[in-house]
Amino acid sequence: MLIVLKPDAKPKQIEKVCAEVRAMGFQPHPMPGAGRTAIGITGNKGPVNPLPFESLPGVERCIPVTKGYKLVLREMKPEGTVIDLQSAKVGGGKTFTIIAGPCSVESRKQMDQVARFVKDQGVNILRGGAFKPRSSPYSFQGLEMEGLEILKETGAKHGLATITEVMDTSTVEAVSAAADVLQIGARNMQNFSLLKKVGKAPKPVFLKRGMSATLEELLLAAEYVLHGGNYNVILCERGVRTFADHTRNTLDLSIVPSVQRLSHLPIFVDPSHAIGRRHFVEPMAKAALACGADGLMIEVTPDPDHALSDGAQTLDFKGFEQLVESLRPLAKVLGRTLN
Ligand code: PEP
Ligand code: MN
Repeated sequence: MLIVLKPDAKPKQIEKVCAEVRAMGFQPHPMPGAGRTAIGITGNKGPVNPLPFESLPGVERCIPVTKGYKLVLREMKPEGTVIDLQSAKVGGGKTFTIIAGPCSVESRKQMDQVARFVKDQGVNILRGGAFKPRSSPYSFQGLEMEGLEILKETGAKHGLATITEVMDTSTVEAVSAAADVLQIGARNMQNFSLLKKVGKAPKPVFLKRGMSATLEELLLAAEYVLHGGNYNVILCERGVRTFADHTRNTLDLSIVPSVQRLSHLPIFVDPSHAIGRRHFVEPMAKAALACGADGLMIEVTPDPDHALSDGAQTLDFKGFEQLVESLRPLAKVLGRTLN
């Protein structure tokens, strides 16, 4: 059940509702919004009786929840979640945020060149994989701890927020200490131990859609993280597996408005991993902006043809510059701000 407070509810009244929820043996999840606070209840096995809450001062109404997810529901925060990364504010509908960087952190020099370049292009969030989930055990597995160190140093040097993938529960602490955002990769979207662990982490989570996950499964995976107490989750569409083989995956842009109707969480699009070929990244990035996504994740590196992973889908600097140039007028028409 969700309890929606009146817009003028006092902090004391909100605390009283939370205390009542705890007294029943459940956990309250108060989420303050622009207009009012909503409180999600978890820990209940069956339906919660709304009557004791409806008569409490400050309570507007109770919404019963029949799905397996509740804290991700738009009713919890109708205006949408905005995540403050200091260098960038993510979500909320107005801004369109670009996360950019190489697939893998390869060297200090590479990261320095990329950071300098993307910052100059107006990008505020730098990506770079240190722990890489590769299909073959013989492929480059990432620089691991050294990669984390390089990413952290580069972000600090250039004033960029950083994001990198955390592949297992044993490295959540190290990745949380090094990066500003924890990426959960497509292959791990339903790694429930990992979702529980990042639900307790002090950093926002960037949750990529599994390659055969439904919208409901994506929202349920996000619910794990919110249930742990971490309400800062960004969802990301990165292509799903279909019979179509002209691209690496099939970019399912229709999930963007579908997520936005159901959930308050920001939704990004990663055309690089969806398409798998650098030439089609720009048109699909424009489509992502046009359909209302909150931002993009784009792979870029100085010399993609010699990249240690995902070179075929990675833009070079010229390609990235062209991408940003093509997004600018579109963003203007749509009343969005690139950041
Ligand atoms: C990545 O971002 O480099 C990555 C491995 O993505 P995904 O999990 O979407 O395949
Ligand atoms: Mn990649």
